[in-house]
Amino acid sequence: MKIDFLGVGEACDPLHTNTSLLVQSTIGGRQRVMLLDCGFNAAHRFFRVCSDQDMLDALWISHFHGDHFFGVPLLLLTFREMNRTKPLEIIGQPGVREKVYDVMDLAYPNFREKLQFQVEFREIEPGSQITVSGFSVKAAENEHSIRSFSVRIKDGESRLFYSGDGRPTKATLELASECDLIVHEAFRVSGKTSGHGTIAGSIEFARKAGVANLALVHIERHDREERQQEIREMLLKTEGLNAFLPESGDAVEITNYELRIRN
Ligand SMILES: [Zn+2]
Ligand SMILES: [Zn+2]
Repeated sequence: MKIDFLGVGEACDPLHTNTSLLVQSTIGGRQRVMLLDCGFNAAHRFFRVCSDQDMLDALWISHFHGDHFFGVPLLLLTFREMNRTKPLEIIGQPGVREKVYDVMDLAYPNFREKLQFQVEFREIEPGSQITVSGFSVKAAENEHSIRSFSVRIKDGESRLFYSGDGRPTKATLELASECDLIVHEAFRVSGKTSGHGTIAGSIEFARKAGVANLALVHIERHDREERQQEIREMLLKTEGLNAFLPESGDAVEITNYELRIRN
């Protein structure tokens, strides 16, 4: 499984693309590609690496904040311009179809009727597991200002956990256990937070989950700049845990349960 960090930023971060991951695996001899979240500026970043209109099989939307799904109209518009005909699966919590239709209709009225490819919606309930384009997808509810799901993606060999936005819960900890990589939002460095993860909390979460690799994303933009040194020192002290702060454009690969940095 290869994971490209297309973006690692929070909503208002002007330097980093909104948090968005591109997951690629070979399943049953076929290349499968899923995008995790597509915020305000993530679709532009996605098309810097995608020149094939059929490359993407599925899109996961963690929750309905703009930095996680306002890029969807642009994603679909660009695929239309590229003459895509292959269906695209969009997976999310109940209500995902209506939310995506709303944002499409606001961005470009009447254009969804003109798409020459099918958009197939898959609603998922917390705790249930579905198969999407060969990937096994399971969700758990975290604690955020609006309903938000964490997700576990399995390709038959490797297991990725992506938090979306939100504080860990008992259910997300269970979902993350024994994954090869946790990608967790850490909007704050430490302390008590409402509706968001922290760096300190994510480290504790990865330890409790028994997971060896932790990528921290969605860090509050001022903390990311001004508290760099403190963050670096925290990450250096995570003995036995490979905790890192990816940049937009970084990629990792999980092979034989081991994580390698690609770039
Ligand atoms: Zn966010
Ligand atoms: Zn959010």
